[in-house]
Order: sequence, then C-alpha cells, then structure tokens
Amino acid sequence: MRTDTGQVFKLEDYRPTDYLIPETGLTFRLSPEATRVTAVLTVERRDGVAASVPLVLDGDGLTLGRVAIDGQTLAPTDFFATPDQLTITTPPAAARFQLLIETELAPAHNEALMGLYRSSNVYCTQCEAEGFRRITYFLDRPDILSIYTVRIEAPHHEAPLLLSNGNPVGSGELADGWHYAVWHDPFPKPSYLFALVAGALGKVADSFVTLSGREVELGIFVEPGKERLAGYAMDALKRSMKWDEEAFGREYDLGVFNIVAVSDFNMGAMENKGLNIFNDKYVLADHETATDADFANIEAIIAHEYFHNWTGNRITCRDWFQLCLKEGLTVFRDHEFSADQRSRAVKRIAEVRTLKAHQFPEDQGPLAHPVRPRRYREINNFYTATVYEKGSEVVRMIRTILGAETFRAGMDLYFERHDGEAATIEDFIKVFEDVSGRDLSQFSLWYHQAGTPNLTISSTHNAAAQEFTLEIEQSVPPTPSESRKRLMHIPLAFSLVGADGKAIEYSGVEGASVEDGVIHIRKRRHMVRFSGVAERPAMSLNRGFSAPVTLSVEQRADDQFFLAGHDNDTFSRWQAFNTLLTEVLISAFRQVLDGRQPGFASRLIELAGKIAGDETLEPAYRALALALPSEADIARDIGKNIDPDAIFSAREALTVAIAEANREIFSDLYDRLTDKDEFRPDAASAGRRALRNTLLDYLSLLQGGAALAARHFQSATNMTDRAAALSVLALRHNGSPETVKALADFEAKYATDPLVMDKWFQIQASVPGPQTIHAVRALTGHPAFSMANPNRVRSLVGTFSSANQTGFHRADGEGYRFFVETVLQVEKRNPQLAARLATALRSWRSLEPARQGKAREALLSIANTENLSADLRDIVERTLA
Ligand SMILES: [Zn+2]
Repeated sequence: MRTDTGQVFKLEDYRPTDYLIPETGLTFRLSPEATRVTAVLTVERRDGVAASVPLVLDGDGLTLGRVAIDGQTLAPTDFFATPDQLTITTPPAAARFQLLIETELAPAHNEALMGLYRSSNVYCTQCEAEGFRRITYFLDRPDILSIYTVRIEAPHHEAPLLLSNGNPVGSGELADGWHYAVWHDPFPKPSYLFALVAGALGKVADSFVTLSGREVELGIFVEPGKERLAGYAMDALKRSMKWDEEAFGREYDLGVFNIVAVSDFNMGAMENKGLNIFNDKYVLADHETATDADFANIEAIIAHEYFHNWTGNRITCRDWFQLCLKEGLTVFRDHEFSADQRSRAVKRIAEVRTLKAHQFPEDQGPLAHPVRPRRYREINNFYTATVYEKGSEVVRMIRTILGAETFRAGMDLYFERHDGEAATIEDFIKVFEDVSGRDLSQFSLWYHQAGTPNLTISSTHNAAAQEFTLEIEQSVPPTPSESRKRLMHIPLAFSLVGADGKAIEYSGVEGASVEDGVIHIRKRRHMVRFSGVAERPAMSLNRGFSAPVTLSVEQRADDQFFLAGHDNDTFSRWQAFNTLLTEVLISAFRQVLDGRQPGFASRLIELAGKIAGDETLEPAYRALALALPSEADIARDIGKNIDPDAIFSAREALTVAIAEANREIFSDLYDRLTDKDEFRPDAASAGRRALRNTLLDYLSLLQGGAALAARHFQSATNMTDRAAALSVLALRHNGSPETVKALADFEAKYATDPLVMDKWFQIQASVPGPQTIHAVRALTGHPAFSMANPNRVRSLVGTFSSANQTGFHRADGEGYRFFVETVLQVEKRNPQLAARLATALRSWRSLEPARQGKAREALLSIANTENLSADLRDIVERTLA
C-alpha cells in the first residue's frame, strides 16, 4: 500500500522526460508466490540532454533482483534503488542503450488488484493508471510510447492459456511441463495499456471482417463452463466494430481481439490494446441470471472499451490531467452507439438521469473539479463522473455548436493529425477550430472550470407588438479553490411551443446569436427578443439537455403541464413532467417538515395515469416518466438542511396518491403487458418489462400488494422480473411473510452464483428505514460475501451507503459508524476501493445540522487514522476541506 506522501501533481509542472523507451521486452516466469519479471528496455536519451543526467524510473513496492546495462551487471554503486524508485546514477555515454531489470512479484498476495494479481487462480493485470510500476521499474507515464514484445512462461497444467497484447508470434514447450507464448504488439503504446492473462479459461471464438476485408479473430475468455453466457457480449462486440466503421470511419488494426472476464476487478473494464480485461459482471449474461439493465450495460461497456482502440490507444493522453480526452470522448461514442442500437430519446433520458444523480452532486460538493483537473494527489480518485459523464456532455456540446457534419470532419482530422501520439485537450479543441474556423476559447472553459452553471430565465410576451422576450442570466457557483468564475459559452436548445404542440415560427430575433434552435449564451445577461410572435408560447428549454446546466425558470404551471403532455420532443416532454414532479415533491417535503399531511394537485396525479396509458409513447419512455425522482434527486434540488426521513415520507405519499387514483389504468395495463413470448433482450421487450415492473411498484402499495408482488416473483421467467419483484417485496413489504419467503427462495436458488447474489445483497441493502443497518451488518458475515471482492463490497456496502438515504443517514449516526469501520477494513486490502466507498459522504454539508455533525465526526475519525493510503486520505481531506 502506498501511504500518502502529500505530494501534489500539477498540470503546469508537465515537462517531457529526458529519456525515451522505444522498445520494451518483458519475460514473465509465472508463479503465485514468486513471479520473476525480466524487463529489457531500449533506452534513448533525448537530443540535447547531457549524458550525466541520471535515469529515474518509477516503482511501487518492488523487489529488485539484478540490473544490467548492455549486458553488464551493474555494481551497487552505479544505481540507487528503493521499492518505489530506481535511479541509474551514471548512464552510459551512448545515446541508446539496453537496460535489463529483474524484479520479483507475489501476485497471490496482491489484494489491491493493481499490477499483476490472481483472480480465481487466473493471473491478470490492471495497469491504469499507475499499476505497471508494480510490475517493473519504468517511465510509467502515458507519454512514453513503446513497442512491446512479451514472453510468458508457466506450467502447462496451471496456465494452458497465455495472453498478452498484440498478435501471437511464438509458442512452445519447455522443460518440467512448462510452456511459453510470445506476443508482439506493433503499435507503440503507453505502459498503462499493457496486459497479461494466464490460466485455465474457456473460450468463445468468432471472427469479424473489417471494412477493408481483413479478418480479425475474436475471443472471449471466461471461467470454464460459463461459455454460453458470453454470447450477448460477443454479439455486442461485433456490432460495436461495425458501428465504429460506419459512424467514425475507424477500423480495427490487429489480427486478434481478445476479451477476458475476471471476477476480482476494481473497475468495470479495461481497454488494454488487443486484450481487454473485464469485470465478469459486464460479460456474463443470460435471461435467467441477468436483468435488462445488465444486458444494456454489457452492450455499452463492450462498446466503450472497444472504441478506446482509437480514442485512448491509438491516440492516448499526454498526462493524466488529460484523462477526459480519452474518457469523455469515448463515453460520448458509446452513448451514441447505444442510442443507435436502442431508442434515442429513452437513452438520452437515462443518460441525463445518470448525469444528475452522479455528476451534479460531485460538481456541487467538496470533490468538485474541472473536467480537466489542474492538480491531483492521487490520480485513481479522478476516474469520476465529471471526467466521464460531464466530459461526454462537453463533446456533445461541440457537436451541437458545430453541427454533425463539421463535428465528424473535426474527428477525422483529430485521427489523422494525432494518430500515434499522446495528445492534450488543446489538441482536441484545435481540430474543431481548424475545421470550422470558429474560436472555441470561451467554450473550452467547460474543460477548465468546475461547477454546474445555472441559467435564470424569465419571459414576457407583448401581444400588441407580437414580441416575445426571454431574459436569461448565467451564473457559475464557486467551487473549491475557484471562487471567481468566468462567463461560459452555453448552447441552449429551445423551442417556442404553440397551442398545437408545434414550434412557433418567429420572423426575427435579436439579443443573442440563435442558430438551428440553439441560443448561444456567452454573456452574463441576454435579452433575447423574438418578433412576429402573435400568441404567447410555452418555453421548452434545454431541449435534449443541450447543456449540463441547472435552470431556474419562471414558467406558468399551465405551460409546464402543457409541455409534459404535448411537447413534440420526447426528451423535453419527460423533462417537463420530471420538473413538475420535483416541484411537487419539494413542497410535500416542506409540508412533512411542518407536520402536515402532504396534498397533491389532482391534475398531476391524472397526468401520470394518462402517460401510463398513452399507447403512442414507447413503454420504456412511460416507465422512465413514471419513475419518480429518487430521494437523492430531491435532496439535491432542495440543496440544504436535508432530512432524509422527511424526503422519504413525501415521496412515499406521492407514490401512494398516484397508485390510488390510477389503480384501474395501472392494473389493466399491468395485466396486458404480461409477456407470453420467449425472452428477448432487445430494447422494445425490455421496455415492456420495465413498464410492467414500474406499475407493479405502484400497485404493490395498494391492498393485496404483497400478494401481487409475490405472484409476480413466483411466475417470473427471467431475472429482470424476478429481481424487480424481489425488490418491490423487500422495499415495500419488508418483513412480510411473502418477502421472507421470496428472499429465502432466491438465496437457495442462486447461492452458488456470485453475480446473482450481488443483486440479493443489493436489494437488502436498499431497504429504507433505520433497521436496515442491522441486516447489512449481518450480511457482511454471509458465506457469499467477501470484503476482498470489489463487486460484493459495492453491492452491499456501496449500495447501503450511496443509495439508501434513510438507512445510511440514520439520525443516531449508526450508519456512519458502520461506514467508518468498513472503509478502514477495505482499505487494508484495497485502497482504491475504499476511497471510492468514502465518496458516499461527499454531500454531507447539505444535511440538517445534527446529521451533519455526525457525518463530520465520521470523516474526522477516518482522517485521524494513522498510515492512511494516499487514495483514502485524498478523498477524506478534500471532503472535509
Ligand atoms: Zn474508458
């Protein structure tokens, strides 16, 4: 474990290295307790660098064997080594030399899951961001591009399969039942993309013919016996390869593309060149074990990692400050892929929900940072929703501003100009400026400035003058270390909607530049005057969520209702309804705090029924619209003095009111949606299941609800319906005989399937109320649970602390005490995972004073622990700052 050194890395300190490593040869002699790694590095001194400049290589907890230069073993006086650094004090005078380094590793004891480790007896690696230095000493930074040749040796019976990046170039038998394989990757790559896998795995094989007619061998490797669960992932891979050729003109470049699924993995998946390594949760699926959401995630993540081959691998990042260059862009690409494979409007709604649930609270709290940060203490903590999700929104805005065609021209230029390079955000912006002739300097603040901008908007209509005026004011709230903000360029898509639901044509506009339905807000205030507007329109604003901003709009309730029922753009229609729901829930929250029974306007309740039964709308859309804003969403919109119990009561009251008033519509529809066909994972079938399961949630609150959910559970023929029913039972009817039985049946049926048991943990961790803490504590002792496995920890502890508002934020602070204990326990093994868990308290300052005090105590008790890892200390100190 790397303890905190307090060192802060700054963007402005970037300078190129004195040495390069154009070629890297690695030989692994694998053994769980003592793996020998021999690295042979071709080192080149840059022009103009004096021969007396020492060569300093990064390490992390390494045990050094031998060091040699050009075949000569170095004397101890010629170098200086610690576990975390190797310095060649007097390198040879020649500008190019060969450096040999031997290290010894114990992969079986590597529980941090960075570098080379074992997962279920399979050797695997994770090197992003700085895991390669746990394998050998190296210039472990993304701007050092090298051509790798890797030889792997292992006992045949233990590891019949030996994989690395690139193409296989040799293999053979060795003495004592050992064998070897050699892999060569012709594309220069940074060390974080290095990968190795060795073990006994089952293979699913297929092939793909690229646009130019080259055949690529595809392989997905899984735990033996699970091959039949990899079919959907393989199909998603082939669709991704085809889509990238069509949408971006990008073709795959090696003869082999392999994916390996492992069960112990810190992240979702990793895009290592030609050898992606996946958390098995994002590969394995069939209708019996995976939900529709799992299928959608698999499709998206397979695509994401594949798309990195161009955006991340062929063009990589100059330094880790540029992480969004590969991540934001690749998330944008996978969002577009999923939108093309599924329903675009539904996909967009889901994206915006995710952005608001994960990125908005980050941007509004102590962990706020720009999409491209300027400093960090621990880069592992910057794999955030801001870098990924907001990073994707920024790319989307570039496309909105330039138009699809110019955007594509810019992407083409980016690939042409920077292929084989380690690039920066400035390089990325420049290609779009060059193809469009526009100045994007104000726009680029989206990369450099943290915080979610707010737009305050009001309108007036002058019927006599036929003039409609929008008054728009932008503000960007202060964030840590940035109190003064500059004005941003915000592309606000809009429509003036007439009584027939269609856009009103206007004859002229002044006060801002308005192109293709987008107002370009660049100043603090704009008075945007539309002329030739006879009737007073309803304002449909930020259509398609054209900018990741919050809106404070003065809009008549009548107009909101009208848009929620009639806006011709599906996304905007959802947004209008969601805004209405949020407003109603916030006032219900205040009523609860005042000790009153919350009341709801009947037209909102009726509108919910109308949306449910509107056959012109896709079922998936109706399911999303009927899913009320989450407790966390409501808390975020309230902003301060949060009492999670009052939010829960308000939301529960609205759910019951909607269910009672629409019982007949919901119940009829529920029956009609019963799926009699064979299971299909496609978007349309998934949408019908989603709607039916949403209706079940409402109906379960009415008389006979527990019995209905129990029948739903018993008759389910797929995991989507089974897990939904179990969740309804546990969350709505906790402790009932139906729930107790369903939980026991589920456990008995899936006891040996860890990924399905994760759902069982997750559901129980989500049960609202103060008693859940006891259940969660007890479940940490369940035989299927393990503190060493990230998926298990996330499903139980992660769900409880980040998704259970009333359970975690228990008024007496018991939830926080559990949180401290577990975070510290996890940290001993896996600091990265512990730091991720610790972000659950990032919004602690928005709580009411009593809970705030207890949350602060909890954070302080972690901060005061000695020898904390850099990962955890960084998160906790920034959260407290
Ligand atoms: Zn990625």
